[in-house]
Amino acid sequence: MYTVKDNLSDVWNSKSRHDWVAALERGERVPECQECWGKEDIGVESIRQFFNQHLSDVEPVTTQPRIISIKPGIMCNNACRSCNEQTSSMWFKDAYEFDRETHPDVPFKTWLQKWQPHVTIYKDNASLEQTFDAWQEHMIFWDIYGGEPLTIPLSYRIIQGAADSGFASNQEIQIHTNGTVYDPALAKMFEKFRSVIFAVSIDGIGAKNDYLRHGSEFDKVIANLTQYHNDLKSMKHVQLYVRCTPTPLNVYGIDEYCEYFDKTGIRYTINNYAVDEPHNNIQYMPESIKQKVADKLQNVTHPQVDQLIRYMMGTPADLAEKQLAFWKHNTKLDQIRKQSFADVFPEWHAVWQEYLAE
Ligand code: SF4
Repeated sequence: MYTVKDNLSDVWNSKSRHDWVAALERGERVPECQECWGKEDIGVESIRQFFNQHLSDVEPVTTQPRIISIKPGIMCNNACRSCNEQTSSMWFKDAYEFDRETHPDVPFKTWLQKWQPHVTIYKDNASLEQTFDAWQEHMIFWDIYGGEPLTIPLSYRIIQGAADSGFASNQEIQIHTNGTVYDPALAKMFEKFRSVIFAVSIDGIGAKNDYLRHGSEFDKVIANLTQYHNDLKSMKHVQLYVRCTPTPLNVYGIDEYCEYFDKTGIRYTINNYAVDEPHNNIQYMPESIKQKVADKLQNVTHPQVDQLIRYMMGTPADLAEKQLAFWKHNTKLDQIRKQSFADVFPEWHAVWQEYLAE
């Protein structure tokens, strides 16, 4: 089912959802949940385990979900290297160039047609908004990501809808932002919630950030982060986090990353592994390169670094076939964007060059 055309209540009550839940309750490893099984099998905490523990006292309600994790559209002002056209509208031109390798004759305007509805997918979607309003009483957790949620009207509709419903005092809300937008009104909106997690995604320091998170400027993001830190620090129910997504591009520099954010005093996490594609997944690097990363990170004291290394050292069944996925994808993206991995990450580039020369 597809939330742009199907009513969300119908999705909730659908046979396919019931079948899926029944399979999980029978202990079946449904393929859609492989991301969690894969982590659990190598002793890394999965998001399923995290939320089952975090929300262990929540009683289910049969008529609606109590937790909604929502991507309220793909409008974004960044085109991060770890992202794609399914999640960011800024990726369209680059993704088109990738697709031209296999479909060289499709004009850009034709290619764009399949994505255009996703940019405005939830704009003025009365059915969706009414369903959310009707569900507010039993909701306990909203998880909003993007696109960039602070550029998408539905994000504000959800935050304000919850605040106006009178039920926000029972609700937790989590917002993931790329840090390019500073909104001084957010702190006020957060006042009514039971608790708030405000997570700012930053994947590298200085020029590395600008290369990784194409379209963002590190200094501006840090200035916005500082403003949010000041706005929110007196609100005990609000937690501000910096969130790093380790990928084959930035994992070698996690030590530098930790050193920088340790000095800020702002909490940060390094366990948001990208798992969608081998070129983004730190498990898909040659074993000898992974070992070099593990050696370099051995003195990092962040509490999540051991799990990061354990996850990275996991061996997917198709590793041999796809271990250069990152190198190939990133080289192509450098050509398209006229950027240089070697210039921005000279030390890490040299590690790959040495491996490739063997
Ligand atoms: S900010 Fe988020 S949605 Fe936008 S390109 Fe980066 S990862 Fe994708």
